[in-house]
Amino acid sequence: MPRFDVISQGEELLSGSTVDTNAGWICHELAEIGLEPGRVTVVGDVFDDIRDVIGEAARRVTVVICTGGLGPTSDDLTSEAAAAAFDQVTVSNPEALAQVEERYRARKREMPPANRKQAVLPVGATVLVNHLGTAPGFRMEEGGTVLFFLPGVPFEMKAMVKEHVIPELRARFVLPPRRTVVLRCMGIAESVAAQKMEGFERPGVLVGYRANMPEVHVKLHLAAGIEAEPLIAEVRARLGDVIFGVDTGSLAEVVGGHLRARGETIATAESCTAGRIAAALGAVPGASDYLLGGAVVYSNAEKVRQCGVDPDILEEFGAVSEPVARALAEGIRARVGATWGLGVTGIAGPGGGSPEKPIGTVHFALAGPTGTLHRKVHLPFERERVLLFTVGAALDLLRREVEGST
Ligand code: ATP
Repeated sequence: MPRFDVISQGEELLSGSTVDTNAGWICHELAEIGLEPGRVTVVGDVFDDIRDVIGEAARRVTVVICTGGLGPTSDDLTSEAAAAAFDQVTVSNPEALAQVEERYRARKREMPPANRKQAVLPVGATVLVNHLGTAPGFRMEEGGTVLFFLPGVPFEMKAMVKEHVIPELRARFVLPPRRTVVLRCMGIAESVAAQKMEGFERPGVLVGYRANMPEVHVKLHLAAGIEAEPLIAEVRARLGDVIFGVDTGSLAEVVGGHLRARGETIATAESCTAGRIAAALGAVPGASDYLLGGAVVYSNAEKVRQCGVDPDILEEFGAVSEPVARALAEGIRARVGATWGLGVTGIAGPGGGSPEKPIGTVHFALAGPTGTLHRKVHLPFERERVLLFTVGAALDLLRREVEGST
């Protein structure tokens, strides 16, 4: 498998004022087509450093992608450094100059003389067109290694990777077709999933994990010729019903798909989440097929007014309690006329906890055609995470009721 290095160039990346998102994106895209990531290096605006990392990468791996430093200012040093790395010089490249000039002509602006610098490339470099910005990219080949130099601006860089880099790499290397299967889980910690998957790896099968709060994704990277289905079945046997989808969208999308298939509808009554569950469902295109509406019922008065919660049960059990969660679910279901009513009440913190009801205590209820289910969870996290996991757990309760029998 050919290996690649990524070089992210720019003083702002070293100082921390810009976060290097380019390298991660490039690693992901190139790994997807079957190349093996080697190293990612961040280098500032010091000429010798840039020259050295380029030369070193070219000796280490067969593909190098370098982003940034192609601008017109004195701190844009990549072109000169790339030439120096291979004992070459730079020249004004007519094709690159024509591109820079054309960008300005198209915008009916006069080209500042400084921009001529962007067309100064190492001798023998090939120009890579940048349709979205002024800085042309370029590529070089040195001792069996191909090096791509792209602008730092993320959307320009991404377009150029897709247009120039990936097609060339596909043509240049025999990349074995690979498949990545993503098993999406809800209600399991990444570390627990990893523990249950221990010993699963085998030749041609790599396992990866991603905590995509509140979901956990288990990824199977399969080499060519490895059949996915038996492996998926084995993962299901290990992880059980926390898996809500294989190569699907988010939990909200999956739940929505089940509701649509069954011709059923949902309404929510949300205290602590203040509409986030409805918003998660509503973020999915076509949600109007099943999401009827909902109520944000933060105060006790609104729980009574919008969901018909009996003031006596609020008084007796408190707002964060099983009876209130049930009353919210049943009340919203009846008032909206939905198949399912989801009620949530909890203490997200940081204030409001007590020894009997600590921060992170959440009661959910799901009212449906055959009765009302209740769950109580304790989420010992800070506010934002409590809310995220509450949305996930509520949707998962619904998912377990509507999946399987569609
Ligand atoms: P241009 O001449 O079009 O600006 P350039 O190659 O000179 O291209 P830089 O000046 O290095 O690009 O970077 C331009 C902007 O792109 C930076 O200010 C920063 O916002 C963003 N950028 C650069 N490198 C990265 C990176 N590795 N990750 C994320 N953003 C980046």
